[in-house]
Amino acid sequence: MKISDIKTTSLQANFEWVIVRVYTDDGLVGLGECYYGSGLEAIIRRLKPVLIGEDPHNIDWLFQKMIRATSGAGSMGGLAVNAISGIELALWDIKGQALSTPIYNLLGGRYRSAIRTYADCGHGDEPTPASWAERARGALARGFGAIKFDIDNIAPERFADRFHVGLGRGWLQGQQQPIAKAEMDLIVSLVGAVREAIGPAVDFAVDCHWNYNTRDVITLAHELAPFKLMWLEDPTPPDNIAALKRVTDNSPVPICCGENHYTRHGLREMITTQAVDIIQPDVPRVGGLLEAKKVADLADIYYIPMAAHNISSPIGTLAAAHVCAAIRNFAILEFHGQDVPWWNDLVEAGDLLIQDGYIALPERPGLGITLNEDVARAHVRSDSAFFE
Ligand code: MG
Repeated sequence: MKISDIKTTSLQANFEWVIVRVYTDDGLVGLGECYYGSGLEAIIRRLKPVLIGEDPHNIDWLFQKMIRATSGAGSMGGLAVNAISGIELALWDIKGQALSTPIYNLLGGRYRSAIRTYADCGHGDEPTPASWAERARGALARGFGAIKFDIDNIAPERFADRFHVGLGRGWLQGQQQPIAKAEMDLIVSLVGAVREAIGPAVDFAVDCHWNYNTRDVITLAHELAPFKLMWLEDPTPPDNIAALKRVTDNSPVPICCGENHYTRHGLREMITTQAVDIIQPDVPRVGGLLEAKKVADLADIYYIPMAAHNISSPIGTLAAAHVCAAIRNFAILEFHGQDVPWWNDLVEAGDLLIQDGYIALPERPGLGITLNEDVARAHVRSDSAFFE
C-alpha cells in the first residue's frame, strides 16, 4: 500500500477547522484534522511530494520525514507541526482501516472505553454573575459534568483606550497584564456565581489565556481557591517555564498548561521541572496521536495527569479520544463546540458523539467516523475549496 494523494479543505465554525484526506493506491482514505492557523493548507500541499509513494503504515518515520522536510535541521515548532499533525491523524485512520481495528488498539489498547469531556463555556454571554450562572446551567442541562470559563479580558476596563490603543481584544493576550482590584473582584464574583449555580460536585476550570504577570496571577489563584477549581489554565505567557513553575509552586489551585507547545521537546521542560500540575497538549497540533502519547507517557512518570486541549470538529476530537483511551494518566478532554449547532452533523457516527458528557469510543476500524460531505461543503471557507 502506497500513499497516492493528499487533499485538504478548511471549514468555518467557531474556529477554522482544517480537514485533511490522505489517499492510498488501494482505495483507502484517511481522515484527519489540524489545529487552525493561516497558510496550513499550503503547507499540507507542500508536504505531498514528501509522502507520495510511501507506505502509510510507517507513521513514526513519516512524522520524522515531514518534520525534517519543513524545518531544515529537524528542529520543531510552529505551523508546520499543525499541518503534520493533521496528516498524521489521517495516517492512523488508514492504518486502522487496513488492519481492521480501532486506532486505540494500535496505541497500546484501552484503559477506558468512554472518554470524559468538559464543555468550554468561553467568556460567557456577558460578564455578569446571572449570565455566567445561566451559561453554566445550560452546559449541565446538556449532560456535562465538567465545565470551563475564560476569565481573561472580561472586565470593561480592559477595553479602555489606555489598554489596547484601538487594537482589540486579541492584541491583549499574552501581555503580562496587571490585574486591577476591580477586575479581580469581577472575576471572583463571576466564578463564585458559577460555583453556586453548579453546586459543589461539578468540575470547573478557568482559563487565563496567558494574560497575567506571575505575582498577580498567584494572588488571583488565592482569591479563587475557595471555589475548588479543577484547574487554572495558562496563567502567564507561554514562553518562560521557570516563571510558570513559580506560579504553580505558589498556587493553591492546580495549574494546567501546554496547548500552544509543540512536540515532546516543546513540552519536555514543563514536565521534567514539574512546572505544571496538569499537562494539556492539543493532539491535532502537538504532532499528532503518537506524539501526544509520548508526551502523556513522559508526564506519566512524573505523576502528572493529561487533560487534552481541543477546539476541533468531531474528527480531531475523536482522534484525541483515541489517545485519551490509551494513556494511563488521562484526566479529561475538552469539547469546544457548544455554540456550533452542526458540530455533530459533520460526521456520520451513528449516535451523538458526546452523550452525557462522555465519548463512547467506536468499535469500527480506524478513526471510526465518516465525513458528512454535504454538511462539510456547506461550511467551506470562502478562501478554501472542497478537498483540493
Ligand atoms: Mg486554553
